[in-house]
Amino acid sequence: MEKKKRRKIGLTTQIFIALFVGAFFGVILNLLPKESAIGIWSQEWIVNHFLTTVGAMFIASIKMLVVPLVLISLILGTASIGDMRSVGRVGGKTLIFYLMTTAIAIGTALLFATLFQPGSNLSMHLAAGAAKIKEAPSLQEIIIGLVPSNPFKALADGNMLQVIVFSIIFGLALASLGKKVEKLMTILEQINDVVMRMIMLIMLVAPLGVFALVAKVFATEGFAAFVPLLSYVGTVFFVLMFHLFIVYTGALRFIANLSPFIFFKKFYSTMLFAFSTASSNATIPVTMETVEHKMGVDRSVASFTIPFGATINMDGTAIMQGVAVAFIAQAYGIDLSFADYMLVILTATLATVGTAGVPGVGLITLSMVLQQVNLPVEGIALIMGVDRVLDMTRTAVNITGDTIVTLIVGKSEKKFDKSVFLDPNAGIANEESAENII
Ligand code: ASP
Repeated sequence: MEKKKRRKIGLTTQIFIALFVGAFFGVILNLLPKESAIGIWSQEWIVNHFLTTVGAMFIASIKMLVVPLVLISLILGTASIGDMRSVGRVGGKTLIFYLMTTAIAIGTALLFATLFQPGSNLSMHLAAGAAKIKEAPSLQEIIIGLVPSNPFKALADGNMLQVIVFSIIFGLALASLGKKVEKLMTILEQINDVVMRMIMLIMLVAPLGVFALVAKVFATEGFAAFVPLLSYVGTVFFVLMFHLFIVYTGALRFIANLSPFIFFKKFYSTMLFAFSTASSNATIPVTMETVEHKMGVDRSVASFTIPFGATINMDGTAIMQGVAVAFIAQAYGIDLSFADYMLVILTATLATVGTAGVPGVGLITLSMVLQQVNLPVEGIALIMGVDRVLDMTRTAVNITGDTIVTLIVGKSEKKFDKSVFLDPNAGIANEESAENII
């Protein structure tokens, strides 16, 4: 009873407050004069020591659960579907939706970037001294890399696509052995419960983690970098919001026939989580928990679509890349033809498939898109300085796309329980029972 009383505000609200307080605190730290004693002290002790340590520990503790969770729940999910054909159907549908929404995202980004002309006030000249950008993997490398020659290495490296492939084959084998492996199934179920409970436990400190992560970003990123690039940042932001509130809301309303209002109410804390971590991968445990327990999608679908989406489906990243391509072309005064635009849609779709769900990678795979249409790769240096906050925002869009497609596929496969989706208290009991431990 005592413990219950302590928690007056729900976890979701706590995360929400932590984000704003963190941003506010960060801005204040940023405004302290850099050379003054207090400025040096706060940079050293508050930012470099306290915020960095708390933020990094929080991300590490949630990432610690990504691989075990994906492995176990996807094995169980596949085993419960049981046959290759159904698994293939879910996979095929999901892939088509993911690619389609991404292509729409880039198309819209190119359209608005052409209308708004964010780069036309800059006049850049092709220069020597290209930005240091890592090579993006080729498509062939991505395809070959799907199969893990060593599953333990895949697990240790957290190579999500390889873990997915291994878990699906394991799950299918498990299902085909039926009664013989009943005990193993029970054990896996129980491990899955334990991992889920661990997620809930770590989520209890999420407000502190979110505070530290956001405060650090705002303390480090000065506003000065944004001023010359406001039109670029504004365009990316506008298209991200358009995709979120027009495309996704439309898909939810008209394809899945579900209330966008209920969806966002249940999902915004997961979006805030993605925003603070800037990593779709690190958000997987939270997204899966929300989708299964608060929205009612069956594990057999969600355990595949969410990690798969966090790895290959990045509509927000695609939007940044679309706007960036148009922006760089405008800044360097290079005209793109209609064929170039089509090529951008194609390569950026593939580039985001190859973008891992970790901070900042979208900028690296952008080089692949720029090269395809002969734009200067050093143009990336122009937008690097403002990428962190955009990265955070697009990651929130990325995981929303994964979840919307999960709902659509789950519903079409009849693996969706609408009563859970409609129940405002669904999933809350899990949080509360975890809370009673501490
Ligand atoms: N941070 C993004 C994500 O994790 C990827 C990116 O755009 O860099 O979804």
